[in-house]
Parts: sequence; C-alpha cells; structure tokens
Amino acid sequence: MAEKPKILIIYTGGTIGMVQDLESGDLKPFDFKHLKSELPELKKFDYDLEVFSFEKPIDSSNMRPDSWVKIAKILEKNYADFDGFVILHGSDTMAYTASALSFMLENLSKPVILTGSQLPIGTIRTDGKENLITAIEIAAKKRKDLPVVTEVAIYFEYQLYRGNRTYKYNAEHFDAFDSPNYPILAKAGININFDFHALKKIKQEDIKPLVVHTELDNSVAIIKFFPGLSNIIVEGVLKIEGLKAVILETFGSGNAPIDARLFELLKWANEKGIVLLNISQCKGGGVNQGKYETSAKLKEIGVISGADMTTEAAVTKLMFLLGQNLIKKELETQLIKSLRGELTK
Ligand code: ASP
Repeated sequence: MAEKPKILIIYTGGTIGMVQDLESGDLKPFDFKHLKSELPELKKFDYDLEVFSFEKPIDSSNMRPDSWVKIAKILEKNYADFDGFVILHGSDTMAYTASALSFMLENLSKPVILTGSQLPIGTIRTDGKENLITAIEIAAKKRKDLPVVTEVAIYFEYQLYRGNRTYKYNAEHFDAFDSPNYPILAKAGININFDFHALKKIKQEDIKPLVVHTELDNSVAIIKFFPGLSNIIVEGVLKIEGLKAVILETFGSGNAPIDARLFELLKWANEKGIVLLNISQCKGGGVNQGKYETSAKLKEIGVISGADMTTEAAVTKLMFLLGQNLIKKELETQLIKSLRGELTK
C-alpha cells in the first residue's frame, strides 16, 4: 500500500492565523499546534500533517531576508522527510517571500506552496479554510510517482501561481494576487485542474540534491520614475554608501525621460560598479530597451533589461545574486537568465 503523503505546514503569521474571541470579539492567534481539532475538515484527508510554528508569528510587513533564511532552513532540515510543504504567511509580502525562496532553493523538486487569507481563519466568512485545505491537497498531489508541483507557488482564492511571477494587487478582494506575465498553474473548482505546460517539468533522473542558499545581500534600492522626478533625488540614491544595485522602475516598455544629467548620473553609477536593472512599472508585458529613443540610451549606458520580471522577483533576485559575490559582469549575465522561471526568455 502506498504511504500516506507527509505534509509539513509552516506557520509564519499573518491574518490567516487569527480567531475571533467569542466573548470579546477580539482577534487572537489561532493555535496551529491543535490544527486538526480546530479544523476538523482536515481529518478527512488521509495525510500525515505536521505543523511547525514560528515561536513569534509575524505580520508579513515585518518579514526580512533573515526571516526568509529561517524558512529556508526549516525546509532544508525537513526536506527529506516530507512530500510537500505549505507555508502560511501574511499576504502583504507573500510575493516577495515566494520570489526569494524560489532563488534560495536550488534544485527544488517538491512542492512549496504559500498561502494565507484576507479574513482570519476563525471568522465565519473566512477565505482561510479553503486556501489552507486546497494548498495542502496540492502539496500532496502526485502524478506518476512524482510531485505535480516542484516549485515555489502561491495558492490563493482558487488559483495556483508561480510564486516569482506574482504580486499582491488587491487589499480588499479575496482574489488578491495576479501573475500577468505567466499562466496560472492550476485552478480549483470541483476538480483541481493543473496546467501541465505551465508547471515546471521534472523527470526522476533530473532530480538533484536540494541546495539552499542563505547568503542574501540587501544593498539594493529602487528608483521609481515619475514625470518631474528630481535628479537631486536620483543622485542622492546613487551616491548612498555601500549601494550595489538599483532597480529603475521605468515607464511602459522600459522608458525614462531624455535628460542629459540623468544619463550622466546613471553612467557614473554603472562605471562605479553599481548594477542598474530596468523593470517596467507596467504589470503586464515588460522591458524592451531600444524600442523607443527613451530607452535606447539606457541600454547604451549599460542598464540591464529586466524583461518581464516583477519588482518582487527583481529585488529578491538581486539580493540572491549579490549574496553570491559574483563579479559585476557575471552577475549581469545571471540577471538576464531565467534561473527559476521568473522571466520569459
Ligand atoms: N497584514 C497582514 C500580513 O501580511 C495581511 C494578511 O495576512 O493578509 O501579515
């Protein structure tokens, strides 16, 4: 008889982990150690479920690179013993954590599914129960003896997304995430329908030992362009002591104003060794440097095209690559490559 799927649930914090005190109406933390008695629906799964809780659950606005390292180390420690992992996380920075983990977990061949909710799990209209139950089911799914999902994904409101392609776009709706530049990996209705073309493909003979990267360097800044952005501000950012990389959040397909002083500053930064990465403010589509005169100059200066990466993926990819201590040329070569499916080649 096949063994029961073993799933590890890692509870980091966020709205999902709250229940309403029946007397006072206040929100208090849900006890994930008693998950099955609090959520009896889970008993119907013939799975082995274990829970690991952060000793101090955090609102995801308080997530930092060291929190990602903590999660990655929990995954590393338990990797061989479980078939899949579900990470319960606040939705606010979930796309950053999913993107960071995708880079940190090299050779991942098991599901790592992040989920959370907009309403606490202990409220009547919660979206948390469905999100958690289906995330667990997805983490346990196998096909021809291999896990169906072998990447870091986000499950939210009936949809499964590639984690490093998502961003949170709605603070109000249950449907809070979007992935405009990559297809949805699965839709849950009566059945869970997977898009096998979109999911990362893996063969038994391709499986390699997991490598967990825990060196992250956050010497990164973002300059978001807007009409009228002062060059004094740009200069102030570029001259920050210890700065190693800057994301230029540009207009449309990667355009910035034609401005001699701006180009001079960017050229200076590039020559000083600062990596300049062009990411579009548009959520769908991406950077195409050279399409317009307003981006051709950026290319000429040495600004790297971020293609259709999200800002979330770009920030965490830079932290990951800077943590590898690569020389600038090599780092730039890695930046334009799709390392974990984060950009369209
Ligand atoms: N502020 C919360 C958090 O991100 C919101 C949520 O859980 O969705 O932790």
